[in-house]
Amino acid sequence: MSAIDLNARASATFAEKLRETEALLTQAALDYAPRSAGEEPRITLACSLGAEDMVIAYLINRLQLNIGIFVLETGQLHAETLALLDRLQSNSHAPVQVFKPVEAATIQFVASEGKDAMYKSIALRKACCQIRKMEPLARALDGKAAWVTGLRREQSGARAEVPLIDTADATRVKLNPLANWTWGDVWHFIAENKVDYNPLHDQFYPSIGCAPCTRAISLGEDFRAGRWWWEDEAAKECGLHVKSSSLHLTEENKQKASA
Ligand code: SF4
Repeated sequence: MSAIDLNARASATFAEKLRETEALLTQAALDYAPRSAGEEPRITLACSLGAEDMVIAYLINRLQLNIGIFVLETGQLHAETLALLDRLQSNSHAPVQVFKPVEAATIQFVASEGKDAMYKSIALRKACCQIRKMEPLARALDGKAAWVTGLRREQSGARAEVPLIDTADATRVKLNPLANWTWGDVWHFIAENKVDYNPLHDQFYPSIGCAPCTRAISLGEDFRAGRWWWEDEAAKECGLHVKSSSLHLTEENKQKASA
């Protein structure tokens, strides 16, 4: 049974939610438009290539919004995810930028801690996320006034309060245009609009990250049970959506990344 067959059920207020999402994205594209010709938009979508982010990327293209799209290619993604990235880059009118970790940092980390370091301790798992996700994320967001994510309140207890517009970080605004959407809404939209999606969703992977840290879930398991499943619930965020000041790019990291 495909993810569409299993999940596509629009909620009663779906049409209203879609209008709200489109209005939010349209206004944001205007609010954070480039200040001068030739400049990049000051707003960008953090696209994990998961179902929610594919919906937002689709809307950015359908509404022809001046919002950039970026993907963190951690070097640990599934072949299915990489193939979807290729298709997104080919089919998206909005430019899709790919940010990778600093190669020397990943080589050094694997040499000193091993390729399975993420299973050894939470500290090592977070160190891996820092090198492969957080540092490239800081580069992707450098100079941006706002970013867009596919966070939804329903995804986990930790995300139950996600606002549509998050201004908690003084550096940049975070927009969560699907905050109110249900999983059924997401798949209803995908089915209605034939949005491209990761085939791993058809194999019971609702939330897809790096291959070593993602597994399929069983019926009745929590939405994010397949992510870092060996850890306690409280520790299960990679840092991308944790309020922190760690998204600032140091001069040292800028030099390493451009080396
Ligand atoms: S999700 Fe896993 S493989 Fe990916 S960066 Fe984090 S620890 Fe490393």
